[in-house]
Amino acid sequence: MDQLRRRMFRLLLLFSGSLLLLSGILFWIQIGSGGVYSSRKVDLVRRSVLQRGEGLVLDTGRGQFTDRAGVPLTGETVPALVVFPLRIDDDEGRSKLQRIAGIIGKDAGSLVEWSYQLQQPEVWPNRSKPLRLSEAQIAEIQGLGFPGAQVMPLTVRYSEHPIARHLLGFIGEQPSRIEQQYGKALSQGYVNEHTPIGLAGLEKQFDRFLLPVSARKVTVYTDGKKQPLEGLGTRLSSEANPYYPLRVETTLSYSIQKEVEETLRRHNLKEGAVVVLDAHHADVVAMASWPEFHPLRVDPKSTAWNNRAVQAIAPGSIFKTVVAAAALESGAVHPDDTFDCHGSLGKYGFTCWLKHGHGRLTFREAFAESCNIAFALAMQRMDAATLLKTAERLGLPGKNGWSESGPGGFVQLDGEEAGRIFAEQANRQDGGVLAQTSIGQRDVRMNPLQAANMIVTLLNEGKAVQPRVVERIRYRTGGVMQLFPEQKLNSELKPISKKTANTILDWMGDVVEYGTGASLRQSTWRLAGKSGTAETGQGTVHQWFVGYGPTDKPRYAVAVVVRNVPENARNYSLALFRDIMDLLAEVESDKS
Ligand SMILES: [Zn+2]
Repeated sequence: MDQLRRRMFRLLLLFSGSLLLLSGILFWIQIGSGGVYSSRKVDLVRRSVLQRGEGLVLDTGRGQFTDRAGVPLTGETVPALVVFPLRIDDDEGRSKLQRIAGIIGKDAGSLVEWSYQLQQPEVWPNRSKPLRLSEAQIAEIQGLGFPGAQVMPLTVRYSEHPIARHLLGFIGEQPSRIEQQYGKALSQGYVNEHTPIGLAGLEKQFDRFLLPVSARKVTVYTDGKKQPLEGLGTRLSSEANPYYPLRVETTLSYSIQKEVEETLRRHNLKEGAVVVLDAHHADVVAMASWPEFHPLRVDPKSTAWNNRAVQAIAPGSIFKTVVAAAALESGAVHPDDTFDCHGSLGKYGFTCWLKHGHGRLTFREAFAESCNIAFALAMQRMDAATLLKTAERLGLPGKNGWSESGPGGFVQLDGEEAGRIFAEQANRQDGGVLAQTSIGQRDVRMNPLQAANMIVTLLNEGKAVQPRVVERIRYRTGGVMQLFPEQKLNSELKPISKKTANTILDWMGDVVEYGTGASLRQSTWRLAGKSGTAETGQGTVHQWFVGYGPTDKPRYAVAVVVRNVPENARNYSLALFRDIMDLLAEVESDKS
């Protein structure tokens, strides 16, 4: 019997995991004592006046998220201890509970006391943070054959250390939105006003696909005296829906996401974001935002849960990428044109970051050295409209994430903030405004996703696409329910020329070869990119680095931003960028 129970438990774990599920299985699995559940007994229960005990939901049936290979990102199933308020207050019950307390290493008094106040079956010590039983503990508890406390597979939405927290978001109760959005499901009883729904992130955006369809419950069958019914005991049930819950398959790589997060933790990052895009399709391979938060303990007053990977902030000199492309594309500047930097423009209080100036340098060198004066002078040869035209082709201003066209169309990413070049009220003829704009200050805003996607656009010789974070939604059976095809970004615009795109990519190589990114020369791959330090106006700066690697056969575009650090702090984004590229290089070398 014990062996059978163990096997059943394993079977159930398999069923309730996110692995391929066999279709059409109505499973009633008996965990308590007694024989196999027969149809005769179902009828018996239905017709009888005997009490059907309270149910405990072990899996709400809400749809789950996976990475691109089907690795679960939510919905971990753990073996948990469930106590039933059933025959636990006699001598035998008390002694069994005391033995279980010994097995799980808790003082017996607290488990017994906790059990006595239960009106409903409950998970020890609570549903959102169950005690995870070891194999040995499971065997010992099952060996007791005690109906009052049993091991059950419990699906927890978020583990103790969930990954991709900001991207996935969190769920919670919001009765007003249920009424508004799910009136029909509410009236049909699929949801009630306390059903948790997605409040942020992908949980919110994909909520309509995730609504619980078939819950898995454990029910105790008792007689009027709360004694378990002979032959029925406790049972697990799941409704027979072969297609639900759905699985939302993201484009993330579980292992890369995890390692990116570990890198940020190791660097003790306070505030910032990282976006890793696949260099060919702009699919999001990893997306991390800091500081961390826990989806089970969300403080609504804190901003920790905001996804900084899609928040638009001043880009500083990474925006010189756009200015250089506009200058070359329009013919306003030739790559070999020279500029003189004496550290100051001589007006608008505009200076170079290198106090005594760079001296005479070509436009190409000015890009590698990130010379402010050269870029302000280059901008003087263009007008605002020329800059704007190229910026639009590179995905700025506006938003980049995958969305259905038209008003009210489906949007994959929650909270993406639009990028911007000029504020509406800004005077676009003003020399000071243009100089500040040329170095990514003043009104210029970009989000990290956009910054990484700009690199992908250059790598694709100007063809811009909308980064996806979800590629498909699958039925429980594995079949595809919904596809999100690759979509062009700004498809009505003519892309920038291949020549300009390739020139800028080469110049990004110079940045690492001899420019501001020279510390990246020690990395595993040969890398290329652009640095940026943006003043926030509050005495702090945002440090950026965006780029790609390896240079000979680009596989990833990465944007790193470290937010709100002291002005003279050492450049931290470079070290992060390098470690992330090194871990990507390791992943790729493991593949081949
Ligand atoms: Zn300079």
